[in-house]
Amino acid sequence: MRAVQRFRVLAPFVAEETAEPITDVLPMGALQNVFRAQLVDDRSRVLGLHSVGDSYCHTNPLFAWGLCLGIDYGFELGRIVDEYPSDPEAQLLAFARLTAVEAEQCYRAVADEDRDRSLCWRGEQSEGAWLGRTFADFVRQCALPTVSLDREVAREVIRRANLLDLPDSLSHNRKIVGRITSLQAEVSPAAPGSVPSRDELLQLLGPRA
Ligand SMILES: Cc1cc2nc3c(=O)[nH]c(=O)nc-3n(C[C@H](O)[C@H](O)[C@H](O)COP(=O)(O)OP(=O)(O)OC[C@H]3O[C@@H](n4cnc5c(N)ncnc54)[C@H](O)[C@@H]3O)c2cc1C
Repeated sequence: MRAVQRFRVLAPFVAEETAEPITDVLPMGALQNVFRAQLVDDRSRVLGLHSVGDSYCHTNPLFAWGLCLGIDYGFELGRIVDEYPSDPEAQLLAFARLTAVEAEQCYRAVADEDRDRSLCWRGEQSEGAWLGRTFADFVRQCALPTVSLDREVAREVIRRANLLDLPDSLSHNRKIVGRITSLQAEVSPAAPGSVPSRDELLQLLGPRA
């Protein structure tokens, strides 16, 4: 709470007159992004065992994708099982055909961004073909800051963030990528004092003096 209160944009969300915590702060340990392909070499791992939700594709909750994927795929699986009630192989193939591309792209997008975020926390930067960065870093560090500057960019970036498009679609959208690139000169740095420095943040997160 002390740390969140220190971010100018986040502070109102935890202000006493707005919000009342319903629990203590709860730790989330050892989060791992995981994608368990339904098919390995075009064959099932265990015939008749279908996985949905986090057991199929677990992504950092920061992205808020897990429940959407779980519910969506759960309904699809129900429909597919009704369609092929006594053919687990057909169920598996239909389910994999419908979900594998999206689930794997979600896993990859989140895993790549988490990898780059860890680099950033160490004071390093990713390297790649997207303004010198990886695509994941380009989305986070270049695309997101331009959302408030351009309606079309905002629409595409927000569609991706809310999984209305496949996570990779933005990388193929030359027009929007070009706009994001040319808007970089207009992105203003965070206003002085609006976010804590690393040292200040570590101090806030540490034990109270
Ligand atoms: C802090 C946080 C915020 C999130 N925010 C969002 C969001 O905004 N939008 C979104 O789409 N997703 C969000 N998610 C992700 C979402 O909650 C998960 O993707 C979703 O709950 C996965 O559903 P699931 O049924 O696969 O697993 P779970 O919801 O984890 O259910 C598994 C259940 O199995 C039980 N269980 C485990 N082992 C056993 C056992 N041996 N025997 C019996 N029962 C067992 C567990 O107790 C649990 O109840 C968030 C996740 C977290 C942690």
